[in-house]
Formats: sequence, C-alpha cells, structure tokens
Amino acid sequence: MKTFRIDPHVHASETSACSWISGSDMAAQYKALGYDGIAITDHLHEGYISSLPCRDNWDACVDKYLSGYRAAKAMGEKVGLALIFGVEIRFTESDNDYLLYGMDEQFLRAHPYPYRNGLEDFYNNYHDKLLIIQAHPYRGGGDNIRPRFLHGVEAVNDSPRHDSHNQQAFALAEEHSHLIRTCGSDAHRPGELGRAAMVFDFPVHDSLAYKEALEKGAYHMECPNFRDLIEKYT
Ligand SMILES: [Zn+2]
Ligand SMILES: [Zn+2]
Repeated sequence: MKTFRIDPHVHASETSACSWISGSDMAAQYKALGYDGIAITDHLHEGYISSLPCRDNWDACVDKYLSGYRAAKAMGEKVGLALIFGVEIRFTESDNDYLLYGMDEQFLRAHPYPYRNGLEDFYNNYHDKLLIIQAHPYRGGGDNIRPRFLHGVEAVNDSPRHDSHNQQAFALAEEHSHLIRTCGSDAHRPGELGRAAMVFDFPVHDSLAYKEALEKGAYHMECPNFRDLIEKYT
C-alpha cells in the first residue's frame, strides 16, 4: 500500500535564524528524499518578534514569520510535496518549546503575541482548536513539564546536534496515557533532513488533517536511529 510520509518538524532560514536552509530548498530536498510532506515549524517567541523592526505591528510580524513557510509551500506546489503549517512556540515563562498543529494564518493573525500568557492559559483557550505537542521535552533537563496542558510529546527528536533523551520522553508518554507521541527530524542544516517520518495510510495535506490523524492515532513512527525505542514503546 502507498503510504504518506511527513516530517513534522522542519525549520526554514527565512524565518528561523538558526536554520541554514531556505524553505524552498527544504521542500525540494525533502521531495528528493522521497517524502510526501513536511511541516514548517519555525520558532515563534518574544526574542524573535522583538528583534523585528515591525515588532509593534502584529500583521507585519505575521507576514515576516510566514515567509519561510510560504517559500516552502510555493516549492511544494511545484514539485508535489504537501506543506503543513506548524509553529514551534516558546512562551515567555520558560525555555520549553511546543509544536502547534491545526492552525492557519487567520488564527495567527487573530491572536497577537500568543506566547505572552504561558502554556496553561494557551491550553485552556485553544486546546479544542490546536494540537499542542511539547518538543524534545527532556533536551533541557525536563524542567516544568506539565502533561495536563499538553496533547502530546515529541517522543523522538533526531537532531544530531542535541541529546534529546528520547527514552525519557517515551517514558513520560507511558506514564500519561493521553499523550500523543510524535517523531521528527528538527531539521535546520545539511545532514539533518529526513531522519524521521510520521507515516500514514492516507494522504495528509494540511495542518488540520495532520492534527486529526494524530488524534485518531492513525499513524506510525519511522526513525531508523531510534527503531529499538519505537518498537519497545509502541
Ligand atoms: Zn532552531
Ligand atoms: Zn525545532
């Protein structure tokens, strides 16, 4: 059966200064790697927005923020790669990062500076609209993980520049059975692309479809470097 493979954690250099690869190159390279889709999950936090000259004009900030995603999407349309809109948000209250899916541009425009009020407030307001997945929860030591305000955790983060302590993330998801588990490459630079995939038996073309497929549990994880861990826990 034809499967649909998505890398749900990718950064584009137009928006994420830590990435060395543009959105359009990311899309072209993922297509060449045999993927069917990627999520561009650029960093969104106070430090980034306050560094922009347009910081006080939220709409202009959103335009700038979307530039990496848009470039990837344009290339995706050309080569035949689905582009999923995601966000990696960091609230001002801590250094934890959270991947958001199920949103669109309108949501972002309608909710200015969404990182300012913290995870609990964000979850309480939007948990029925968005999927909130804590990214690499143990990379920074695992402080202040609050499963009650999460839909899931990134159980496998295969960035080669970090030890994300994936085993601990799986153990957390075991302990809190409501937590959805995901895997992702967290791709920023050459050599970091295509290390993990979320695999579906059906096409997943946008952020809402990705969210709904995860909620149904209709996927499996593929990550050669962590195959043993995935087999042990799933
Ligand atoms: Zn980054
Ligand atoms: Zn990331």
